[in-house]
Amino acid sequence: MQLRNLRIDDDLSLVGSEVPLRVYGEGTRGPRVGVMAGVHGCEYVAMAALQKFLDSVDESRIKGELRVITMANAASFWTRTSFVVPHDGKNLNRSFPGNPEGSFTERLAHVIFQELIRPVDFFIDMHSGDLVEDLEPFVLFEESDVTDRARALAQSYGLGHVVRVVKSDSPISGTASGAAAEIGIAAITAEVGRCGLLEHDAVDQHERGLRRALVHTGVLEVRGEEEVPTSPPLEHSSWAWLRSPISGWWSPRVSVGHYVEAGEQIGEVREIEGLGRHVVSAPSSGYLLFMTSSPAVDVDGLLLGLAC
Ligand SMILES: [Zn+2]
Repeated sequence: MQLRNLRIDDDLSLVGSEVPLRVYGEGTRGPRVGVMAGVHGCEYVAMAALQKFLDSVDESRIKGELRVITMANAASFWTRTSFVVPHDGKNLNRSFPGNPEGSFTERLAHVIFQELIRPVDFFIDMHSGDLVEDLEPFVLFEESDVTDRARALAQSYGLGHVVRVVKSDSPISGTASGAAAEIGIAAITAEVGRCGLLEHDAVDQHERGLRRALVHTGVLEVRGEEEVPTSPPLEHSSWAWLRSPISGWWSPRVSVGHYVEAGEQIGEVREIEGLGRHVVSAPSSGYLLFMTSSPAVDVDGLLLGLAC
Protein backbone atom coordinates (compact mmCIF):
# COMPACT_ATOMS: atom_id res chain seq x y z
CA MET A 1 0.00 0.00 0.00
CA GLN A 2 1.25 3.47 -0.84
CA LEU A 3 0.20 6.55 1.06
CA ARG A 4 0.18 9.91 -0.69
CA ASN A 5 -0.84 13.30 0.61
CA LEU A 6 -2.92 15.24 -1.88
CA ARG A 7 -2.38 18.98 -1.47
CA ILE A 8 -5.31 21.35 -1.79
CA ASP A 9 -3.64 24.51 -0.62
CA ASP A 10 -0.03 25.64 -0.26
CA ASP A 11 -0.88 27.04 3.15
CA LEU A 12 -0.85 23.83 5.20
CA SER A 13 -1.91 25.68 8.33
CA LEU A 14 -5.42 25.66 6.85
CA VAL A 15 -7.03 22.52 8.28
CA GLY A 16 -7.97 20.00 5.61
CA SER A 17 -5.34 21.24 3.14
CA GLU A 18 -3.88 17.74 2.81
CA VAL A 19 -5.95 14.67 2.02
CA PRO A 20 -4.31 11.26 2.51
CA LEU A 21 -4.88 8.88 -0.42
CA ARG A 22 -4.08 5.18 -0.01
CA VAL A 23 -3.38 3.14 -3.12
CA TYR A 24 -3.32 -0.66 -2.92
CA GLY A 25 -1.96 -2.72 -5.81
CA GLU A 26 -1.06 0.27 -7.98
CA GLY A 27 -0.64 -0.70 -11.61
CA THR A 28 -1.57 -4.36 -11.09
CA ARG A 29 -3.96 -6.12 -13.43
CA GLY A 30 -7.59 -6.24 -12.45
CA PRO A 31 -10.46 -3.90 -11.73
CA ARG A 32 -9.71 -0.40 -10.48
CA VAL A 33 -11.95 0.78 -7.66
CA GLY A 34 -12.16 4.05 -5.72
CA VAL A 35 -13.75 4.32 -2.27
CA MET A 36 -14.29 7.52 -0.30
CA ALA A 37 -15.79 8.49 3.06
CA GLY A 38 -15.94 11.71 5.03
CA VAL A 39 -17.14 14.04 2.29
CA HIS A 40 -19.43 15.26 5.04
CA GLY A 41 -17.23 15.51 8.12
CA CYS A 42 -19.83 14.52 10.72
CA GLU A 43 -21.01 11.35 8.97
CA TYR A 44 -19.01 9.16 11.31
CA VAL A 45 -20.52 5.75 10.55
CA ALA A 46 -19.26 5.84 6.95
CA MET A 47 -15.74 6.83 8.00
CA ALA A 48 -15.66 4.22 10.80
CA ALA A 49 -16.92 1.46 8.49
CA LEU A 50 -14.26 2.20 5.86
CA GLN A 51 -11.53 2.32 8.53
CA LYS A 52 -12.79 -0.95 10.02
CA PHE A 53 -12.59 -2.60 6.62
CA LEU A 54 -9.03 -1.33 6.02
CA ASP A 55 -7.91 -2.42 9.51
CA SER A 56 -9.14 -5.98 8.98
CA VAL A 57 -8.63 -6.69 5.28
CA ASP A 58 -5.98 -9.17 4.22
CA GLU A 59 -4.14 -7.19 1.53
CA SER A 60 -3.31 -10.39 -0.37
CA ARG A 61 -7.02 -10.56 -1.25
CA ILE A 62 -6.88 -7.28 -3.21
CA LYS A 63 -6.71 -8.19 -6.91
CA GLY A 64 -6.43 -5.01 -8.90
CA GLU A 65 -6.08 -1.41 -7.80
CA LEU A 66 -7.96 0.00 -4.83
CA ARG A 67 -7.76 3.75 -4.18
CA VAL A 68 -9.12 4.98 -0.84
CA ILE A 69 -9.75 8.28 0.94
CA THR A 70 -11.02 7.71 4.48
CA MET A 71 -11.64 11.37 5.36
CA ALA A 72 -12.18 13.65 2.40
CA ASN A 73 -13.17 16.72 4.40
CA ALA A 74 -11.06 17.03 7.55
CA ALA A 75 -11.97 20.71 7.93
CA SER A 76 -15.61 19.80 8.61
CA PHE A 77 -14.61 16.87 10.83
CA TRP A 78 -12.43 18.96 13.15
CA THR A 79 -14.90 21.83 13.36
CA ARG A 80 -17.95 19.51 13.59
CA THR A 81 -19.54 21.34 10.68
CA SER A 82 -22.59 19.70 9.09
CA PHE A 83 -23.06 19.51 5.32
CA VAL A 84 -20.64 22.26 4.23
CA VAL A 85 -16.92 23.05 4.33
CA PRO A 86 -16.27 25.84 6.86
CA HIS A 87 -13.65 27.64 4.72
CA ASP A 88 -16.21 28.78 2.12
CA GLY A 89 -19.62 27.43 3.22
CA LYS A 90 -19.93 25.13 0.18
CA ASN A 91 -21.19 21.56 0.16
CA LEU A 92 -18.39 19.33 -1.16
CA ASN A 93 -20.94 16.87 -2.54
CA ARG A 94 -22.40 19.60 -4.77
CA SER A 95 -18.99 20.69 -6.07
CA PHE A 96 -17.75 17.80 -8.27
CA PRO A 97 -15.93 17.53 -10.64
CA GLY A 98 -14.49 20.66 -9.07
CA ASN A 99 -12.48 23.61 -10.36
CA PRO A 100 -8.69 24.00 -9.93
CA GLU A 101 -9.09 27.80 -9.94
CA GLY A 102 -12.13 27.92 -7.65
CA SER A 103 -12.75 28.29 -3.93
CA PHE A 104 -11.27 25.86 -1.38
CA THR A 105 -14.13 23.35 -1.71
CA GLU A 106 -14.05 23.49 -5.51
CA ARG A 107 -10.29 22.87 -5.51
CA LEU A 108 -10.72 20.02 -3.01
CA ALA A 109 -13.34 18.43 -5.29
CA HIS A 110 -11.03 18.85 -8.29
CA VAL A 111 -8.07 17.14 -6.62
CA ILE A 112 -10.23 14.25 -5.36
CA PHE A 113 -11.85 13.85 -8.76
CA GLN A 114 -8.50 13.72 -10.58
CA GLU A 115 -6.67 11.45 -8.14
CA LEU A 116 -9.35 9.14 -6.74
CA ILE A 117 -12.25 9.05 -9.20
CA ARG A 118 -11.00 9.59 -12.73
CA PRO A 119 -8.50 6.66 -12.69
CA VAL A 120 -11.06 3.97 -11.66
CA ASP A 121 -13.71 1.66 -13.20
CA PHE A 122 -15.98 1.60 -10.12
CA PHE A 123 -16.51 4.29 -7.48
CA ILE A 124 -18.17 3.99 -4.06
CA ASP A 125 -18.94 7.13 -2.02
CA MET A 126 -19.84 6.23 1.57
CA HIS A 127 -22.15 8.58 3.49
CA SER A 128 -24.39 8.57 6.59
CA GLY A 129 -27.06 10.80 8.07
CA ASP A 130 -25.37 14.06 9.11
CA LEU A 131 -25.76 15.57 12.63
CA VAL A 132 -29.40 16.59 12.11
CA GLU A 133 -30.34 13.98 9.51
CA ASP A 134 -32.28 10.84 10.34
CA LEU A 135 -31.89 8.19 7.67
CA GLU A 136 -33.02 4.79 6.44
CA PRO A 137 -30.17 2.90 4.70
CA PHE A 138 -30.17 3.21 0.91
CA VAL A 139 -27.93 3.30 -2.15
CA LEU A 140 -28.25 5.88 -4.91
CA PHE A 141 -26.94 5.90 -8.46
CA GLU A 142 -27.38 8.27 -11.38
CA GLU A 143 -28.56 7.08 -14.79
CA SER A 144 -25.75 7.11 -17.33
CA ASP A 145 -24.20 5.11 -20.16
CA VAL A 146 -23.21 2.54 -17.52
CA THR A 147 -26.55 2.30 -15.71
CA ASP A 148 -26.63 -1.50 -15.69
CA ARG A 149 -23.20 -1.74 -14.07
CA ALA A 150 -24.07 0.96 -11.55
CA ARG A 151 -27.36 -0.75 -10.66
CA ALA A 152 -25.60 -4.10 -10.13
CA LEU A 153 -23.04 -2.40 -7.88
CA ALA A 154 -25.84 -0.69 -5.93
CA GLN A 155 -27.71 -3.96 -5.47
CA SER A 156 -24.56 -5.73 -4.29
CA TYR A 157 -24.37 -3.45 -1.23
CA GLY A 158 -27.34 -5.32 0.24
CA LEU A 159 -29.39 -2.41 1.62
CA GLY A 160 -33.19 -2.30 1.48
CA HIS A 161 -33.60 0.57 -1.00
CA VAL A 162 -31.91 1.60 -4.23
CA VAL A 163 -32.71 4.99 -5.77
CA ARG A 164 -32.06 5.52 -9.48
CA VAL A 165 -31.73 9.23 -10.22
CA VAL A 166 -32.35 10.71 -13.64
CA LYS A 167 -30.03 13.69 -13.95
CA SER A 168 -32.59 15.98 -15.59
CA ASP A 169 -34.96 15.75 -12.63
CA SER A 170 -32.44 15.33 -9.83
CA PRO A 171 -32.98 17.75 -6.93
CA ILE A 172 -29.20 18.31 -6.71
CA SER A 173 -26.10 18.34 -8.92
CA GLY A 174 -22.35 18.13 -8.44
CA THR A 175 -22.31 14.91 -6.44
CA ALA A 176 -19.16 12.78 -6.59
CA SER A 177 -21.03 9.71 -7.87
CA GLY A 178 -22.95 11.79 -10.42
CA ALA A 179 -19.74 13.36 -11.77
CA ALA A 180 -18.17 9.88 -11.95
CA ALA A 181 -21.20 8.55 -13.88
CA GLU A 182 -20.81 11.41 -16.37
CA ILE A 183 -17.43 10.05 -17.44
CA GLY A 184 -18.56 6.43 -17.65
CA ILE A 185 -17.64 5.14 -14.20
CA ALA A 186 -20.10 2.78 -12.46
CA ALA A 187 -20.67 4.81 -9.29
CA ILE A 188 -22.86 4.73 -6.20
CA THR A 189 -23.54 6.75 -3.05
CA ALA A 190 -24.17 4.38 -0.12
CA GLU A 191 -25.90 5.79 2.97
CA VAL A 192 -26.06 4.05 6.38
CA GLY A 193 -26.26 5.64 9.85
CA ARG A 194 -28.27 8.47 11.35
CA CYS A 195 -27.94 11.82 13.09
CA GLY A 196 -24.16 11.77 13.42
CA LEU A 197 -24.39 8.87 15.88
CA LEU A 198 -21.63 6.27 15.89
CA GLU A 199 -23.93 3.26 16.24
CA HIS A 200 -22.08 -0.03 15.99
CA ASP A 201 -24.81 -1.93 14.15
CA ALA A 202 -24.79 0.76 11.47
CA VAL A 203 -20.98 0.62 11.19
CA ASP A 204 -21.19 -3.17 10.75
CA GLN A 205 -23.95 -2.85 8.14
CA HIS A 206 -21.97 -0.27 6.14
CA GLU A 207 -18.80 -2.33 6.32
CA ARG A 208 -20.57 -5.54 5.22
CA GLY A 209 -22.09 -3.67 2.30
CA LEU A 210 -18.70 -2.30 1.27
CA ARG A 211 -17.16 -5.80 1.38
CA ARG A 212 -19.96 -7.23 -0.75
CA ALA A 213 -19.62 -4.39 -3.25
CA LEU A 214 -15.84 -4.83 -3.47
CA VAL A 215 -16.26 -8.56 -4.02
CA HIS A 216 -18.82 -7.73 -6.70
CA THR A 217 -16.29 -5.54 -8.57
CA GLY A 218 -13.68 -8.31 -8.40
CA VAL A 219 -11.10 -6.13 -6.61
CA LEU A 220 -11.57 -8.15 -3.40
CA GLU A 221 -11.12 -11.88 -3.68
CA VAL A 222 -14.22 -13.70 -2.50
CA ARG A 223 -14.40 -15.31 0.93
CA GLY A 224 -17.40 -17.04 2.39
CA GLU A 225 -18.67 -14.26 4.63
CA GLU A 226 -19.36 -11.87 1.74
CA GLU A 227 -21.39 -14.47 -0.13
CA VAL A 228 -24.35 -14.41 2.25
CA PRO A 229 -27.31 -13.57 -0.01
CA THR A 230 -29.44 -10.55 0.80
CA SER A 231 -33.03 -9.98 -0.23
CA PRO A 232 -33.28 -7.81 -3.35
CA PRO A 233 -33.73 -4.10 -2.65
CA LEU A 234 -36.73 -2.03 -3.66
CA GLU A 235 -35.73 0.13 -6.62
CA HIS A 236 -37.16 3.64 -6.86
CA SER A 237 -36.98 5.73 -10.00
CA SER A 238 -37.77 9.18 -8.72
CA TRP A 239 -36.76 11.25 -5.77
CA ALA A 240 -38.68 14.14 -4.19
CA TRP A 241 -36.87 16.46 -1.80
CA LEU A 242 -39.34 18.58 0.15
CA ARG A 243 -38.37 22.03 1.41
CA SER A 244 -40.13 24.44 3.75
CA PRO A 245 -41.50 27.70 2.31
CA ILE A 246 -41.36 29.30 5.79
CA SER A 247 -38.93 29.30 8.69
CA GLY A 248 -40.16 27.72 11.89
CA TRP A 249 -40.45 24.63 14.08
CA TRP A 250 -40.52 21.37 12.10
CA SER A 251 -42.64 18.57 13.60
CA PRO A 252 -42.72 15.39 11.53
CA ARG A 253 -45.41 12.83 12.34
CA VAL A 254 -43.97 9.95 10.32
CA SER A 255 -40.49 8.49 10.83
CA VAL A 256 -37.89 7.45 8.27
CA GLY A 257 -38.25 4.09 6.58
CA HIS A 258 -42.04 4.40 6.44
CA TYR A 259 -44.19 4.28 3.33
CA VAL A 260 -46.60 7.18 2.81
CA GLU A 261 -49.51 7.51 0.40
CA ALA A 262 -49.80 10.45 -1.99
CA GLY A 263 -51.43 13.35 -0.12
CA GLU A 264 -50.73 11.90 3.32
CA GLN A 265 -49.68 14.47 5.90
CA ILE A 266 -46.04 13.94 6.92
CA GLY A 267 -45.75 16.83 9.36
CA GLU A 268 -45.88 20.60 9.66
CA VAL A 269 -43.73 23.68 10.12
CA ARG A 270 -45.08 26.38 12.46
CA GLU A 271 -43.73 29.89 12.76
CA ILE A 272 -42.08 30.55 16.11
CA GLU A 273 -43.82 33.93 16.41
CA GLY A 274 -47.04 34.44 14.49
CA LEU A 275 -49.66 32.09 13.22
CA GLY A 276 -48.03 30.92 9.99
CA ARG A 277 -48.20 27.19 9.44
CA HIS A 278 -47.13 24.97 6.54
CA VAL A 279 -48.59 21.48 6.29
CA VAL A 280 -46.19 19.03 4.63
CA SER A 281 -47.91 16.38 2.52
CA ALA A 282 -46.49 13.64 0.33
CA PRO A 283 -46.53 14.75 -3.36
CA SER A 284 -46.68 11.08 -4.36
CA SER A 285 -46.57 7.70 -2.67
CA GLY A 286 -43.17 6.49 -1.56
CA TYR A 287 -40.68 5.72 1.20
CA LEU A 288 -39.19 8.35 3.52
CA LEU A 289 -35.45 7.72 3.27
CA PHE A 290 -34.08 10.74 5.09
CA MET A 291 -35.51 13.52 7.22
CA THR A 292 -34.21 16.59 9.05
CA SER A 293 -34.28 15.69 12.75
CA SER A 294 -33.83 19.23 14.09
CA PRO A 295 -36.98 21.31 14.62
CA ALA A 296 -35.12 24.43 13.43
CA VAL A 297 -35.88 24.93 9.75
CA ASP A 298 -35.15 28.07 7.72
CA VAL A 299 -36.92 29.32 4.59
CA ASP A 300 -36.19 26.81 1.79
CA GLY A 301 -34.72 24.45 4.40
CA LEU A 302 -34.63 20.79 3.44
CA LEU A 303 -37.17 18.66 5.32
CA LEU A 304 -37.02 15.17 3.84
CA GLY A 305 -36.30 12.90 0.90
CA LEU A 306 -39.06 10.71 -0.50
CA ALA A 307 -38.16 7.87 -2.88
CA CYS A 308 -41.06 7.10 -5.20
ZN1 LIG B 1 -23.25 12.87 3.22
